[in-house]
Amino acid sequence: MRTLVLSCSRRSFLLGGGFTAAGLLGSSFGNSTRVEAAPIGVWERDSIPVDENPRSCRPKDPLATLIEGNQRFAKAWQQSNQATTMTARTDAMAGLWQRDCFLSSDVLANGQAPWAAVLTCADSRVSPEWVFDAAPSDLFVVRSAGNTAFDNAVASMEFTVSALQTPLIMVMGHSACGAVKAARNDAPLTPLLEQLVTPIRASLTAGDDLEAAVKGNARFAAKQLTTRSQLLANAVTKGSLTIVASYFDIHSGQVTLL
Ligand SMILES: [Zn+2]
Repeated sequence: MRTLVLSCSRRSFLLGGGFTAAGLLGSSFGNSTRVEAAPIGVWERDSIPVDENPRSCRPKDPLATLIEGNQRFAKAWQQSNQATTMTARTDAMAGLWQRDCFLSSDVLANGQAPWAAVLTCADSRVSPEWVFDAAPSDLFVVRSAGNTAFDNAVASMEFTVSALQTPLIMVMGHSACGAVKAARNDAPLTPLLEQLVTPIRASLTAGDDLEAAVKGNARFAAKQLTTRSQLLANAVTKGSLTIVASYFDIHSGQVTLL
């Protein structure tokens, strides 16, 4: 199991999500003396955290919780597609956003404790909070067309892992990705769009269809996170971070681990 560690002296700062160079340099992964954080809360039905700690809504198994949230979304998505009235569509979606653990805006105004980070595309059909039936403070999200591990994306992941002890990063590609399509053809692009598709082209394998190319690009970006960041690589080695790649199918609403 992953062990989350947190320096007591920096605890309130970290829960507040403050961002300074000192915060990153003094991350738990770089400290030689560390203490265990307060126990991670377990989602219990009808329970409301009494300690006003945003960490109390962290699930025991973040990856399983993401997948379960996606299964709720996909079911509602498919039922909604089959609905023929507004009432039927509303009923289909009524099962979403039913939280076992509730964090009030008073708590969220003073801190966040995302239990998963998602690097995904800017595509308007791929919103992670929607796809995973997630609430504020659940997901730390970085998005750009083609879900590439650009400098700022890697740095953002370093921040959430070191300062917020986020234990899971998912890189999620999706069906019909326009950025991957652009990387696969020779149509002229603006200089900045060329810059955008260059790392995607580096991930392409000759002969792949679009779906295979999207999946390959997601795997490539996931690998880039640890190739380009010693902090993330160290966290994976120590077992405090898991990185996975996945594929979101817009038609079915389902996310598949790669
Ligand atoms: Zn896309």
